[in-house]
Amino acid sequence: MKLTVYEKEDVVKILKNKKIKVTPNRLYIAIKLFNSTDHPSIDELHQNLIKSGKRVSFTSVYNIVKLFKNAGLVQEIMLQNKIRYDANITPHAHFICRKCEKIWDVQIDDNSILNREDLINFKNIVEEKLSGYKVDSVEVNLIGICKDCSNKNSEA
Ligand SMILES: [Zn+2]
Ligand SMILES: [Zn+2]
Repeated sequence: MKLTVYEKEDVVKILKNKKIKVTPNRLYIAIKLFNSTDHPSIDELHQNLIKSGKRVSFTSVYNIVKLFKNAGLVQEIMLQNKIRYDANITPHAHFICRKCEKIWDVQIDDNSILNREDLINFKNIVEEKLSGYKVDSVEVNLIGICKDCSNKNSEA
């Protein structure tokens, strides 16, 4: 889990670094998106902004999220039949809970259950067996029951 909280000043800096002109819409969408850990779709992000009283159209949200994606600030992932946006741009896997449908990030690093080498090995195995195919990236989706739901089950 990521604990960094992006304040307004941090977000302004990030956008300026990417030479993205800061507008009020871009700013509040960035603050929402960079602080999200739930991998929202554009629709969910739009609903969320409307609920918090922002008057912004779906198209604006769409264009702004695409702008952030092209600048490498968020990554686009396809999960549960929806295109979702992930502010965690480090390589990581996703654990999808069948019960609460939450999507958890599983970091990929040397201290974690998955490390980069595992994925590179996997990519090499696939390329060896599927000759003529080139793998650009490997996405790992784990589907099951999350810790929260398992705990709830044992309490009942
Ligand atoms: Zn769960
Ligand atoms: Zn993620």
